[in-house]
Amino acid sequence: STARKFIVGGNWKCNGSIAQTKELVGILNASSLASDTEVVISPPSLYLQSVASSIRPDVAVSSQDCWTGNGAHTGETSADMLKDMGVQWTIVGHSERRQKGETDELCAKKAAYAISKGLKVMACIGETREEREAGKTMEVVVRQMAAYKKHLDSSKAFDAFVVAYEPVWAIGTGLVATPEEAQQVHKGLRDWVANNISSDVAAKLRIMYGGSVTAASAPSLASQPDIDGFLVGGASLKPEFVSIVNAQG
Ligand code: PEP
Repeated sequence: STARKFIVGGNWKCNGSIAQTKELVGILNASSLASDTEVVISPPSLYLQSVASSIRPDVAVSSQDCWTGNGAHTGETSADMLKDMGVQWTIVGHSERRQKGETDELCAKKAAYAISKGLKVMACIGETREEREAGKTMEVVVRQMAAYKKHLDSSKAFDAFVVAYEPVWAIGTGLVATPEEAQQVHKGLRDWVANNISSDVAAKLRIMYGGSVTAASAPSLASQPDIDGFLVGGASLKPEFVSIVNAQG
C-alpha cells in the first residue's frame, strides 16, 4: 500500500564467503535502487561487520537471528552486541530456526528484547504444508502473531516491528504462493491486528511476503494491497535481487 513504505529484505542464510560477500555488496552499490523502497540485507553474522562497513548507506544490515542478552549462552549473538556493532535490524522466528526447536514464545521474547535494545525486527510467521492442507493457516499465523503481541508491551514497540509472512511450503521450494493466496493471509493478519491490537497499528504495520520470490513473481505479488514488501532468500544471492527491490511499479 502507498501509506506503508515498501520493504525488501535479503536473507543470505548460511551462504557466502569473503569473495561472494564483496561481489554482492559491489552489485548493490553499483545498482539503481528505488528510493521509495527500504532495503535490508541479512548476511551471516560473521560477515555483518564487513558488509555494514562497505554497503551503501541507504541499505541497512540485519542479523538473521539474535539472543536475548549477554551471558552463559555459548555460540549465540545477543541483541546487545548487534546494537553495539551498529547493526540496525534482526530477523527472528525464521522457519529454519523454528524447525530446530524455537517456540512461538522464544521467537516473541527475542523480538521484544531486540526492540527494547533499539533494533528493528523482521518477525517471521507461516504455516507448514500439512497445516495449510488441514485448513489451519490462519489459526497457525494468528497463534504466532499472538505470541509477538503478548511480548511487545506497547503500541510504540510495533514501530520497530515488521511481519514476514513466509509459508513454510514456499521457502526454498520454488513454490511461490499466488498473489491471491498471499493477499488473503496478509489481509487476515491485518484484520486480526486491527481487532486485537489497534486499527492504528494495523494501518501502519508492514507485512512482507517470503517464499521463493523471484524477479518474475515479485511484481504481481507487490501489487496486492496488503503485501508491503518481500523477504527474499535464494534470489537475494543473485543480481536478480535488484529487480525484486525495484518490483513495486
Ligand atoms: C527465506 O529464507 O526467508 C526465504 C523466503 O527463502 P526463499 O526466497 O529462498 O524461499
